[in-house]
Amino acid sequence: MNEKVRAEKLEELKTQLEFYRDLGVDFLVSPPKPKGPRPEARAEAPLPLSYGSSGGQSAAEQGEWERLIRKIMACQACPLFKGRKQAVPGEGNRRARLMFVGEAPGRDEDLQGKPFVGRAGQLLTRIIQAMGFSREEVYIANVIKCRPPENRTPKPDEIKACSPFLLRQIELIQPRVIVALGKVATDFLLQSPKSMSELRGHFGQFQGIPVMPTFHPSYLVRNEGNKEIKKMVWEDMKKVLELLKS
Ligand code: SF4
Repeated sequence: MNEKVRAEKLEELKTQLEFYRDLGVDFLVSPPKPKGPRPEARAEAPLPLSYGSSGGQSAAEQGEWERLIRKIMACQACPLFKGRKQAVPGEGNRRARLMFVGEAPGRDEDLQGKPFVGRAGQLLTRIIQAMGFSREEVYIANVIKCRPPENRTPKPDEIKACSPFLLRQIELIQPRVIVALGKVATDFLLQSPKSMSELRGHFGQFQGIPVMPTFHPSYLVRNEGNKEIKKMVWEDMKKVLELLKS
């Protein structure tokens, strides 16, 4: 390893440790072990459309996923298809016990075809790692699969047009718990008249699946110096970990 690479790795480690300190992480987490026979993430060969790992799926399930991904990639059901470079279906372990749902792809996601890969995505990755998981062990998706212009909030008719895709993803994955990142995902999953500040930090339900609403990582980016917000997110994630252990 040359000096430059070593320095970059040390800098990344320092940034990560500082972030954990701000979150209030005072221990290293081992991911909760699943109860029962449900398969965990495994290092299996990616499917032909590599937007997730198969995690022990049957051929029928893999075929179902491939059809779903193809539909998303070709979808023109709302005007957002006109401005996209590519749709962003989601990625991760298709048998994940923990699923994260955000709002919509941004510029970096639109370019790379992957969810949460910009600055907010890096924060989400650190949160996932602080919980003791890798990105490959969880599933990450958005309510909306194509980037809205200038990253504006998706419109109700766009959410309505796109929602069958997320619903099918949840149905196929059957996660043990969903983390709703931000207001759009929280409103979609919980359909509650309450405000985000009332809902945040308390489990709701989506079709029998516990949903933990928390702040969107981009809100953390916008409030980078605010350690209280980071700590609140970490408190929410600790509740998720407790539930996964039970
Ligand atoms: S946002 Fe959803 S509904 Fe609209 S074009 Fe993209 S995939 Fe289709």
